[in-house]
Amino acid sequence: MSTATTPGVVCGVGVGRSAVIAPLALVRPAPVVPQETHRLTEPADIAAAIATAEKALAERAGELAEQAAAAPGALGEVLLATAGMAADPELVGLVRARIENGQGAAAAVDGAVTEVISMLTAAGGLFAERSTDLRSVRDHVVARILQLPAPGLPELRQMFVVCAADLSPADTAALDLEKVAALITEAGGPTGHTAIIARQLGIPCVVRAVGATRIPEGTLVAVDAANGTVTANPDPALTAAIRRRAETERVLAEDIAPGATADGRPVPLLANVGTPQEMEQLDAGVVEGVGLFRTEVLFLDAVTAPSREQQGPQYARALAAMKGAKTVVRTLDAGADKPLAFAVHEDEDNPALGVRGYRLVRTQPQLLEEQLAALGETALALAPEDRANLWVMAPMISTPAEARTFARLARAHGIQTVGVMIEVPAAALQAAAILDEVDFASVGTNDLAQYTMATDRLRGELADLLDPWQPAVLGLVAATARAGTAAAKPVGVCGESASDPLMALALTGMGVTSLSMSAPALPAVRHALRHHSLAQCKAIAEAVLGAQSAEEARKAARALADAQMVARLGL
Ligand code: PEP
Ligand code: MG
Repeated sequence: MSTATTPGVVCGVGVGRSAVIAPLALVRPAPVVPQETHRLTEPADIAAAIATAEKALAERAGELAEQAAAAPGALGEVLLATAGMAADPELVGLVRARIENGQGAAAAVDGAVTEVISMLTAAGGLFAERSTDLRSVRDHVVARILQLPAPGLPELRQMFVVCAADLSPADTAALDLEKVAALITEAGGPTGHTAIIARQLGIPCVVRAVGATRIPEGTLVAVDAANGTVTANPDPALTAAIRRRAETERVLAEDIAPGATADGRPVPLLANVGTPQEMEQLDAGVVEGVGLFRTEVLFLDAVTAPSREQQGPQYARALAAMKGAKTVVRTLDAGADKPLAFAVHEDEDNPALGVRGYRLVRTQPQLLEEQLAALGETALALAPEDRANLWVMAPMISTPAEARTFARLARAHGIQTVGVMIEVPAAALQAAAILDEVDFASVGTNDLAQYTMATDRLRGELADLLDPWQPAVLGLVAATARAGTAAAKPVGVCGESASDPLMALALTGMGVTSLSMSAPALPAVRHALRHHSLAQCKAIAEAVLGAQSAEEARKAARALADAQMVARLGL
């Protein structure tokens, strides 16, 4: 195998702990329209370019119509409507006019589609939602004109490892996730959207795997999230090791007792979710509730802000699935790495430091108002004994004053249990004053690490700084937990760090009262807690808080943890 074209092992940043072996499928990027250096002037060239563009549009329309005929129900209708867009005489006319004005075929299709999209966006509502479909028509037609492979993912007919340069939230949402064995991206960071979705699904993921897109399509690859490696054509030893790990995971999943330390200190183990469907799929015997319902996931594709009438049924369905178990709903965390079309501030140079999360109350107060109204109405429909188990929290709170305002607004809508996320260092430092205003706090270590270490969570090349084991991050989590203990109010952790079994022990020792993570990570964390007393957890917490570096902190935790557990979980 030549390493120039087929790297043997590609290293990146692993997400989760599992590993899998499956053939590779490549997501091809959208084609880049080349800069035009000259304009068409010869009538023959113009006629040829028109013929090329019209043929490419007609072929794409034909393909979509064929797919529509084979697709069931709503999907078939959407595909047929998209075929109609590709063949739309108005679009064909715009392309033709641009070519007659001297543009090449690819540039003319690109320009004409952009023109139609601006018209659709101006019309708003459902029309604007068709823009995504039209962009996909453009990408396919331009690729055809430039004689490049079709963009996107080939149709998955079996389990595949999906590999892409990068995946937007919309790209990921478009995947047939039941056929995705693992995800690999060359870009992205360990707490970005691709990583979060992979964790949620319990599939191995490696981000920042630079060079992975050079592995030829169809190659058998081993994706090991625990080690952050992608190995092409794994040898028998690696294949056997991966099988053994899968068996250990299966055995761990059989333990479904509530989360607790060896000496019986309860540490409720909760799930992080993004949709009511995910809540319906949670196994009530395995999770003790939901510790983070990321409501923005419901509206990733929405072009206009969802009304309370649109939101209400989603929350009702979610809470019905939870059957009265504790459910922590987070209000919309739009902005930065979670762009929602109706809440984007286009002019921000640093969106992560801008108007995101709770801060949207400054520019679009009706967003929070409508959401709290929908949640309040949903709460009212619950049995009185279940009402207090609907906890509602705001993301990106920075000051006690913000916590106070949020609590006032939420309570005005009948929410009984109101809290905030602690993910900005300022909030961790002011945790005592913030907890005076609300009933609970939940530490978001993904953002807390990003903001404490001044490191973009989407940029994998700085993953060592983004590490939640960094002493500064641990110090802020411990300060928040201390404030919770002093106020006798719950302080959970719902950032991805809670899914690391060693970290879970340290957090418990610091006084964190619940741990929320993607459901597939729960068995290993439950197993770790079960093998350590609260005193051992406290000793681990003390040791990690005295460490000088992330590496030293992790090592200290590993050294104090039960050796058999460390070996069994491969920590
Ligand atoms: C966090 O920041 O840790 C968190 C849980 O929220 P999100 O990852 O959705 O920003
Ligand atoms: Mg966050």
